[in-house]
Amino acid sequence: MNRRQFCKTSVAAGVAATFPLLAACGDKATMAVDVDTSIAAVALDGSAIELEKAAIKELTDAMQGPVMLADHADYNSARTIWNGMHDKHPALIARCLNSNDVCNAVSFARDNNVLLAVRGGGHSWPGKSVCEGGLMLDLSAMNTVEVNADDRRAFAGGGSLLNALDNAALEHGLITTAGVVSHTGVGGFTLGGGFGRLNRKHGLAVDNLMGVEIVTADGQVRHVTAETDPDLYWAVRGGGGNFGVVTQFEFQLHPFERKLLSGSIVWPIDQIRDVLEFYGEWAQGLVDDLYVGPAILTMPDGTGVVLMEVVYSGDPVVGEKLLEPLRNIGKPIDDSVGLQDYMIMQTQEDAAFGHGIRSYAKSGMVKEFTQGLVDAMIDSYVPDPRAALFSHTAGGAVSRVGELDTAFPHRNAELMLVFAGGWMDAEDDAGGIEAIRNSYYALEPFMGGYYTNINFDGEAAAGNYGPAYDRLARIKGNVDPDNLFRLNSNVKPKI
Ligand SMILES: Cc1cc2nc3c(=O)[nH]c(=O)nc-3n(C[C@H](O)[C@H](O)[C@H](O)COP(=O)(O)OP(=O)(O)OC[C@H]3O[C@@H](n4cnc5c(N)ncnc54)[C@H](O)[C@@H]3O)c2cc1C
Repeated sequence: MNRRQFCKTSVAAGVAATFPLLAACGDKATMAVDVDTSIAAVALDGSAIELEKAAIKELTDAMQGPVMLADHADYNSARTIWNGMHDKHPALIARCLNSNDVCNAVSFARDNNVLLAVRGGGHSWPGKSVCEGGLMLDLSAMNTVEVNADDRRAFAGGGSLLNALDNAALEHGLITTAGVVSHTGVGGFTLGGGFGRLNRKHGLAVDNLMGVEIVTADGQVRHVTAETDPDLYWAVRGGGGNFGVVTQFEFQLHPFERKLLSGSIVWPIDQIRDVLEFYGEWAQGLVDDLYVGPAILTMPDGTGVVLMEVVYSGDPVVGEKLLEPLRNIGKPIDDSVGLQDYMIMQTQEDAAFGHGIRSYAKSGMVKEFTQGLVDAMIDSYVPDPRAALFSHTAGGAVSRVGELDTAFPHRNAELMLVFAGGWMDAEDDAGGIEAIRNSYYALEPFMGGYYTNINFDGEAAAGNYGPAYDRLARIKGNVDPDNLFRLNSNVKPKI
């Protein structure tokens, strides 16, 4: 522990020891709301406004969860999201404990014309779940997942994390598609599409979404399914956080054998051509049970590697046979593929993508893994431990859903490429971002469209949603005509 940390901890411990009743008073008691003044805030359009403390007190009284201003003991931890690059200070944070709290917070934002950020799991790469001067609606306490094993359904709170979803389902020998870092939020992940290691077999997260409970801009709680509200049900399956705050997600689960063939095969960078050229042909005919995608990384010592992450969710004997040709490429330096618990794979990247890392990312959809793309991947590789190229394999069940059956627009992509990197020091921001952008721009001619959830540079949503955009804009016009939910890959309301 360094001196600063030591001092902070000692002071905190000292304060807690001296004022033990502070903790017992509860969160609400620490907020100064009895003075009839206002606090500075930011409006929906970005202009400066004042929020009456009386209105904040009214919100505080109506909510079961705490409303935190800057002087609240938990304010700093509450405003902190996963990506350390986004150090923003909301005017107030409403930590919701239930749907009624969400209704109150949404109504407060609307009635007071204050900028609104919605935080699920807090993993927004571009930092959309926190805002400067606005209201941060914090769902982190709505994090439970319940499973109805008989109906094969999971009910996940709007602020739950993927590890809670995976673990709750696995307890019953069931599963649904979840992403590759277990501390990512179910909320943002699902609403944007939801790629994971089982998506070739079971589809994206949105393909398993049977319904949501959502609070819309008018403060109403709606139970949305294909039957009750086909438009909104369609829109939340890919349209991101544009339509309201989801307080509960209902997922379809599938029978699952949690021990499966999985791991990574790693080659030195000088074998990259053999590996990628082989993959380009071999990946065309993959069975749905096999998820395998390339990544190109630079180790801290500057050594480059190309690797394939493998998950085979069928009979392991069959999987071993299918993987033989891949394993016979060149001379791998590591091969960890073996029979292991699914959660080993699902948590293996948790530490590398730990909270507080400063991170930048771009993404692009690849329809065909062509020779041109292989050449460009090889030619554009520059050793830099700050920048890596990952992929999410799609195809299979993902591509069997019609282009306009959900609001997720990239059904014909075989692969999503993710250009991402992380570092701890702010001084690396410019260099790290430049390295990632260079790698992205070199491959841009081979990609079309991006992942809504990885929209760092504010790319317009309209082109990316293509033919789905008009319907999205009309639904947005119906449920959020004033664009209250705008901190996202924003769909402009069509009225
Ligand atoms: C380390 C890391 C790993 C990732 N891995 C994957 C992966 O394997 N597959 C994949 O598809 N994506 C992955 N992503 C991208 C991920 O899908 C998005 O970052 C997603 O937004 C995270 O959701 P969240 O709830 O944690 O985010 P938050 O930061 O909480 O929210 C992001 C946005 O989502 C919306 N939102 C969140 N929850 C709700 C809700 N309950 N109701 C309404 N709107 C809500 C809001 O608009 C919010 O601004 C990863 C991201 C990171 C940082």
